[in-house]
Amino acid sequence: MKIIDIKFEKATFKFNKPMKIAFMVIEGFDTLVLKMETDEGIVGYGEAATLPFVTGDSIDTAVAVGKQFRSALIGQNPILIENIHNIMDGMYAYNTSIKAAIDIACYDIASKKMDMPLYKFLGGVNKTVYSDTTLGIDEPEAMAEKAVEWVQKGWSNLKVKLGQSVDLDLERMILIRKAVGDKIGLRIDANQGWSVKDSIRIINELEKLNVELIEQPIVYWDYDGLKEIKSMVNLPVVADESCHSPIDAAKLAKTKAVNGINIKLMKCGGIFKAQKINAIAEANNIFCMLGCMGESKIANSAAMHFGIANKNVKIFDLDITFYTESSWIKDGFTNEGNVCHMTDKPGLGVTVEGM
Ligand SMILES: [Mg+2]
Repeated sequence: MKIIDIKFEKATFKFNKPMKIAFMVIEGFDTLVLKMETDEGIVGYGEAATLPFVTGDSIDTAVAVGKQFRSALIGQNPILIENIHNIMDGMYAYNTSIKAAIDIACYDIASKKMDMPLYKFLGGVNKTVYSDTTLGIDEPEAMAEKAVEWVQKGWSNLKVKLGQSVDLDLERMILIRKAVGDKIGLRIDANQGWSVKDSIRIINELEKLNVELIEQPIVYWDYDGLKEIKSMVNLPVVADESCHSPIDAAKLAKTKAVNGINIKLMKCGGIFKAQKINAIAEANNIFCMLGCMGESKIANSAAMHFGIANKNVKIFDLDITFYTESSWIKDGFTNEGNVCHMTDKPGLGVTVEGM
């Protein structure tokens, strides 16, 4: 099988309501959809969902680098995935979003060729994903109200964005816990917003509120700081912005800096590298969770297929498509509230119209 063409198209999404996180307010997002064609008539879809301050790339750079990858990859076999990554990594370091787009399209093609859904192609049997949903950062009362709304809609796990002043953050969590009761799972993402000292102080208070885990309390580059926090608290500490690659995962494991790693396909360059991060984590007794960027059902479905095929992926934070709709990118999975079921179509199972 040979790749005969790769096409790109921008997709624009608007949130129903703007999303607040520690360092900004997000109204919506653009992503880059990729179509890979082969000489056997099998077509694969991928997606580059960039977040410049995390992934270091943008839609414009993804298109520019993607065009160069296109020239190098035409004529190559998309199923020989190690070779595909070797070619891309040999041309450009980083640029993980466009590498993820190519990677996802290759896995879509390979599993279509095998006539099986991607999660089965990756060795999995389970087809159900239980995702949390995200509470953006806001005034404490507004967050508590929003939390109750999600619980009333059937969600049993909420990921709460914090990362401003720790005293206000603690007030937020006290109100949210009081509003939703004891049975709802609450996860925290501080998005690098706290200091080491403040993290230790607030996390020990959050433990009393039966919080499940703390994601990225401090700046991404401070592995020693993460280790110090981990040694002083009982709640699991999870790396997100601190882990982009299998090398980061190995360093985090060696430093004994975290209990968990949040894998995102856009940070690491796709499923092939995500499998390596998960293997390193699993061998070091580190659990993985799976997160997403501003993305469509293409990248979101790819993450779900990867996650359910790997038992060390324990937590799914794949909620982006709960807040958006697309007129031309559909299927992949269906959801009733937080319970998502993969379709049994071959490949990603995603339908892309008009491209
Ligand atoms: Mg995060």
